[in-house]
Amino acid sequence: ADVFATTPLNPPDAIFKLTADYKADTFDKKVNLGVGAYRDNAGKPFVLPVVRKAKILIANDETLDHEYLPIAGLPAFTSATGKLIFGEDSPALKEGRVSTIQTISGTGANHYGAAFLERFYGPWAGKTKEEKVIYVSNPTWANHKSIFNSVGCTPVDYPYYDPKTIGLNLTAFLDFLRSAPAQSVFLLHACAHNPTGVDPTREQWKEIADIFTAKGHYAFFDCAYQGFASGDLDNDAWAVRHFVEKKVPLLVCQSYAKNAGLYGERIGALNVVASHSGDVEGGAQRINSQLLLMQRSEISNPPTFGARIVSLILNDPKLFAEWKQDISSMAERIILMRKKLFDLLENKYKTPAVGPNGWSHITSQIGMFSFTGLNPQQCKDLLEKGHIYLTANGRISMAGLNESNIEYFAECVDKVVR
Ligand code: PLP
Repeated sequence: ADVFATTPLNPPDAIFKLTADYKADTFDKKVNLGVGAYRDNAGKPFVLPVVRKAKILIANDETLDHEYLPIAGLPAFTSATGKLIFGEDSPALKEGRVSTIQTISGTGANHYGAAFLERFYGPWAGKTKEEKVIYVSNPTWANHKSIFNSVGCTPVDYPYYDPKTIGLNLTAFLDFLRSAPAQSVFLLHACAHNPTGVDPTREQWKEIADIFTAKGHYAFFDCAYQGFASGDLDNDAWAVRHFVEKKVPLLVCQSYAKNAGLYGERIGALNVVASHSGDVEGGAQRINSQLLLMQRSEISNPPTFGARIVSLILNDPKLFAEWKQDISSMAERIILMRKKLFDLLENKYKTPAVGPNGWSHITSQIGMFSFTGLNPQQCKDLLEKGHIYLTANGRISMAGLNESNIEYFAECVDKVVR
């Protein structure tokens, strides 16, 4: 008998399917704007120069062996990654409240973050899966929902993006925060919101943090793009640091996929911050012990290579300075593409606006992605008539645009909008 006869067929992942379709397309002007990975101006994957250097150092270092890492990960990596997100002078680090564990990139950090809360978040004690709600922005990175569901939590949307303005619906977001039950858990994108590219301003973050403090909400920060949004590591960590300063209970997921171009090395971290009150030291120790238990039962020990690369870069002042250069060159290219696209649509083609403020959302949005405001039919037309690959929600990866294809893309957008 077929013991898997009732196993349902799951459709292929939309983004990865898009890439496969793109590869199979033989049209010479085809454009892939689906994938969330940086491309250089020639449309090629980019190995950061600083990463090349670090790899050579590793290859030539005869003291390195292939033993297991400690369960929490490479110590030089975990201590440096916490400083990168929280800042050298972070009160949470100084007070010993941060437990950091090396993870399988940002995905692994999100997985452990939710799994940890599912088991140990005090206000959830005795609750059912349906009651262990993690509020997620509408929309969010599609995988958030799958990850949270898979560890026994229930993702529920909070209002975030306003299709009418192609911007943030701050009023609805704040109202939702105010009316949610006290001590609710909210996923927040630390910077460069995926998929919309729409981030709160600092003033808006302050308002958001004040409600977290007043309501005792828990902030589940996902930081997959530190440095990639503005080109500046500290700037992109501002929201997280502000929440720490305001004593909001929180955790932070980090990924080095985008900002170090280490997509395949799967290097990231989860940082859980213990409460600033009560038995601080004991709290951090208890949290740490449970993170170790979780890691041991899932992967035993995290992988070495990506941790060594990032650790070298974070701990060597010269390499760190070079990394900052590499990051800003990636961010600047993306910002330049935003300006060019805006200029082409607004000034060259005088393309009819899809939002209330012309095409200015292209330049006000930040990070790898842009929500263009194009509707599903227009996206379908771009695909079928222009061989331009993007998701049906109108999201484009700015990294897929370059000097050679941006004119063609703008021309096609103009045609499908008219
Ligand atoms: N979180 C967000 C919002 C993302 O966009 C991504 C990647 O696209 C990730 C997390 C995790 O990516 P990775 O597991 O490759 O680090």
